[in-house]
Amino acid sequence: MLKQLHQLQKLQNAQKHLEQEKLHSETYCQMTQIKAEYDADKCRWQELAAMRGELLQNRKEYAEALTETGDKLQKEQDAMYDGSTSTVKVLSAREAQMNALTEKMESLKAQDEEAVQHLQQIEEETAELKRKIEEECQSFEKLKVDYKGICQEYAQKEAEVAAQIDELLPAIDKEELAWFEANRQRFGGSPVAYLSPEHVCDGCHTIVTPVLYKRTVSGQRTFCEKCGRALFTDGE
Ligand SMILES: [Zn+2]
Repeated sequence: MLKQLHQLQKLQNAQKHLEQEKLHSETYCQMTQIKAEYDADKCRWQELAAMRGELLQNRKEYAEALTETGDKLQKEQDAMYDGSTSTVKVLSAREAQMNALTEKMESLKAQDEEAVQHLQQIEEETAELKRKIEEECQSFEKLKVDYKGICQEYAQKEAEVAAQIDELLPAIDKEELAWFEANRQRFGGSPVAYLSPEHVCDGCHTIVTPVLYKRTVSGQRTFCEKCGRALFTDGE
């Protein structure tokens, strides 16, 4: 009976191995990598869009402030010539005010110029990012097709193993199967071990005592002294 369970164990582990192999295939890894890059680029793209929106809003505010300051300056200039500036005190106050307004306008223009430059950098980075994202999408689509092929190959292999398991199951005693299922996880998927004529347990690769070997050969249910797996020999 343990021989069949050992066979079942091998097939189940083969199933698991196939699944792992599929997920560790180069194509799948490349897909994961591209997806991670794509996510990061998309994130940056959103950041740039938000920065761009903020800068455009700033430029709007600078333009409004410039118009407002320009109007005030114009009023001060007009007042210089309309005869309302009669005393030296008023004149110097107006001059000081005009200087302040002029300075403010220059500062606004400088800020706007900075915003223009920053916007240009953002446009360039966005264009570059767009190109990169397009490339990533293309590569991903291509890999997806390859991966579909790989999955089909594996599906065939998996179906073969599943068929072998289906064939094997009716031959296994229900109680034995229940024991096997209950102990599977504890032994990393292999609660049954083959004991070779050299007395080696294939679960932990150690040599068992001659007494244990003899008991196993005689058909008793035995367990490896080292790893605890149920043992069987060719004699079973
Ligand atoms: Zn062992």
